[in-house]
Amino acid sequence: MQIDKDEAISVVLLAGGKGMRMGLSTPKQFLPLQGKPLVFYSLELFLKMEEVTEVVVVCDPSFRPLFSHYAVKFADPGTRRQDSLFNGLQEVSPTSKWICVHDAARPLITHEMVQTLFQEGRIHGAACLGMPVKWSVKARTKDNFVQQTVDRDYLWEIQTPQFLSKKLLMQGFALVQEKKLTVTDDVSLAEHLGHPVKLVKGAYSNIKITTPEDLTLAHQLYPLL
Ligand code: C5P
Repeated sequence: MQIDKDEAISVVLLAGGKGMRMGLSTPKQFLPLQGKPLVFYSLELFLKMEEVTEVVVVCDPSFRPLFSHYAVKFADPGTRRQDSLFNGLQEVSPTSKWICVHDAARPLITHEMVQTLFQEGRIHGAACLGMPVKWSVKARTKDNFVQQTVDRDYLWEIQTPQFLSKKLLMQGFALVQEKKLTVTDDVSLAEHLGHPVKLVKGAYSNIKITTPEDLTLAHQLYPLL
């Protein structure tokens, strides 16, 4: 099927981290889940989506041969997550209007949640997945005393994928580079420009693999998806 150029979505799949908190020499996004590297779960899902016209994998060049069975582009990682995204953006086709950014360390995304994200993102210009915070949350002082209890009704935990127009992403990058800011996620680039970001419900099962316990949990959650 021919995709209208206004509909074209480029995915930047971030797999350039070193994953030190796992305590292993292999970066976490390449560890196996049911025998398959974590990064392949989201990659395969994106490659099956009609609206996705290309996937740029950001990873250390030594991992590129792992992807020989997939039609992807590559970019080298940067020092910070946002530097990796910036490098990935340089490889995106000039005709793509929309960018979807995803952490390869989140293998448990579903077609439905990504589809809803795309729909809302196209309407609002910027959107991300997340879930309402379930726990009581407290702000702390420097020496670990409770400063205040935060009203959790207004708190969401943010996930990936995140979705923005390329124009907004480039403008956001220009601003954070000029102001030398570090951002921990992608829609923050829109926030710095004062552009609204729509929150879309993902799932509590859309966990990010960070520690060995997360990998154990992912093994239990995967069959339930
Ligand atoms: O370290 P963290 O869990 O926040 O990383 C989120 C995602 O960003 C991971 O998939 C990781 O591989 C990627 N990343 C990257 N380049 C970096 C740091 C992290 O591509 N410099």
